[in-house]
Amino acid sequence: GRDTNVLEVSNLNVKYGQIHALRDVSLSVQPGRIVAVIGANGAGKSTLMMTLAGLLAPASGQVTYEGRPVPAKAYEVLARGICLVPERRRLYANLTVKENLLMGAFLRNDNDGIEADLEKMYALFPILRERLKQYAGTLSGGEQQMVAIARGLMSRPKLLLLDEPSLGLAPLLVENVFKTIREIKARGTTILLAEQNAFQALEMADDAFVLETGRVLLTGAGSDLIADPLVRKAYLGIK
Ligand code: ATP
Repeated sequence: GRDTNVLEVSNLNVKYGQIHALRDVSLSVQPGRIVAVIGANGAGKSTLMMTLAGLLAPASGQVTYEGRPVPAKAYEVLARGICLVPERRRLYANLTVKENLLMGAFLRNDNDGIEADLEKMYALFPILRERLKQYAGTLSGGEQQMVAIARGLMSRPKLLLLDEPSLGLAPLLVENVFKTIREIKARGTTILLAEQNAFQALEMADDAFVLETGRVLLTGAGSDLIADPLVRKAYLGIK
């Protein structure tokens, strides 16, 4: 129903010139859930995330959030409580860790709340406190991913869009990132997660979508998709 869905995407089409990257994509995300979007390279996951964040304009289709159309400008989307943590992090390499975190809070003016949230980020990722004055560009890949997630959380999003948060991370750090995503959910944040790491994403997801060459191929509970023969063969490598 209208009130139960946070995010409602209907018949979304996105093109890059001749390339039709998303074809009639429809999906919905309910509040407080983790929703996974899985798919191979080039399936359209990043295109979907960037469109939802207001960074790409759709050719056609509708996106509504809490019953109202999502604005076309990235900062207006952020002001509505939707925050994208982009693929490959896109940190400000020449700013320090702390400066990057503060950039995440640039739409806020509650200085006490911002200070309190910085403390929460150091509790979530203790290594960041030790690296506050280090330039983000000199951090390891895993540390950069932590800064990117923490920077996103500093905007106090209601809906967090995570694009391949486990990309390029060692297995132990992948575990950490997935654990963190569960913690973010436990705080009441809704999460849409694009992942190539299909097994872990489906294991954690309440609901999931499989994107294949720009189309939604399958929809279901994460646990249902893990059991789906097609998903097992094509995405989990299990025969
Ligand atoms: P990956 O997991 O490899 O990041 P993805 O599922 O995120 O893939 P997208 O990056 O959304 O996929 O790409 C979807 C399709 O759109 C691909 O065929 C890609 O080549 C194409 N595409 C993406 N960005 C552009 C662009 N700026 N110009 C032209 N084509 C693009």
